[in-house]
Amino acid sequence: MSEESTAVTHAFLDLPPLSAARFASIEDRVARLLGTRQDVVIMQGEALLPLEGAIRSAAGPGTTALNVITGPYGQTFGDWLRDCGATVIDLSVPFHTAVTAAQVREALAEHPETDFVSLVHAEAATGNTNPVAEIGEVVREHGALFYLDAVASVGAEPVLPDAWGVDLCVIGAQKAMGGPAGVSAVSVSERAWTRMAANPRAPRRSYLSLLDWKERWTDAGRKALLHAPAQLEMLALEACLERIESVGLDGVMARHRRAALATRAGAVALGGGLEPYVYETSDAAPVATTLRVPAGVVASELVARALRNDGALPLAAGGGALAKEMIRVNHYGVDATAEAVRRSVTAIGSALAEKGLDVDVDAAVRAIESARA
Ligand SMILES: *Cc1c(COP(=O)(O)O)cnc(C)c1O
Repeated sequence: MSEESTAVTHAFLDLPPLSAARFASIEDRVARLLGTRQDVVIMQGEALLPLEGAIRSAAGPGTTALNVITGPYGQTFGDWLRDCGATVIDLSVPFHTAVTAAQVREALAEHPETDFVSLVHAEAATGNTNPVAEIGEVVREHGALFYLDAVASVGAEPVLPDAWGVDLCVIGAQKAMGGPAGVSAVSVSERAWTRMAANPRAPRRSYLSLLDWKERWTDAGRKALLHAPAQLEMLALEACLERIESVGLDGVMARHRRAALATRAGAVALGGGLEPYVYETSDAAPVATTLRVPAGVVASELVARALRNDGALPLAAGGGALAKEMIRVNHYGVDATAEAVRRSVTAIGSALAEKGLDVDVDAAVRAIESARA
């Protein structure tokens, strides 16, 4: 190991314990980022921890849940909800589109007993984003508890739990926030706390428990932590929040929006049968852009070919069955730049050309340049 890398590694060691006050101040920063007056609980794990914890805390055998599926995470939420004993109504829409508030309204009218709605805001895995503000209005009118996975939207587009009536809003720092994957947070409304307190099956004395944090941390004046906090992740989260604040959240979101528009424009100009996976630009997530490969091309092979020349490109094939037809351009965090987009689209273009497809890389580069302006 070189002297320099040894020094870097040692910077992660021998840290003093993170104080309760510091932990609380990081929580407050997350609350400011979300513009929320609700309680914010930071969870000591990747975002799946609060995503699962919130469902297990709020749902039980008496729950009727409308679970909106616009990508793979919605499917997971349905599984957790059923596992909790909830009656689950799945509302699935094709992954190339977004769900509409009218579809949610219709489903709630068909199932008036619904008292829980789960939704993913933006899906990095499928590249779509859902109109949460409009859906929130419908859910509020109905009176159901509203659970939102905003992991892939926070930092890339507005996430406003209070204005939208979201009762449980889960975020993670690892996508558009450009932060670590080992800590996450959830904002919890009074209604949601009441629901959890009334749920005999809500986890307690458990890593999944939100109520533990409410009772022993938030309500106790945030003086003593429940266990030793993960210092590295907490410090990285603090640094990431600091960086967002210094640039301004609007600036960070604008960078993601521009990267998404540039990717879309570049892919269309490239030709060769490559198409945006999400049909309408308004349904496309700013966090990541998905592309459909032409017939006869296998997306995972094409991505492997593109990565052979530059392994650092933010490219991936779709997960599971989507690996055949979908390319994901993960232009989030440090990769939300015209440069990363240009390199990604150019690499896809070269890989398509190697397969004998007729592409126009120059036109793609020009389209990316003008989308950036
Ligand atoms: C990325 C992401 C998560 C976090 O899950 P990972 O599998 O750890 O990446 C959760 N929800 C959504 C919608 C995401 O895009």
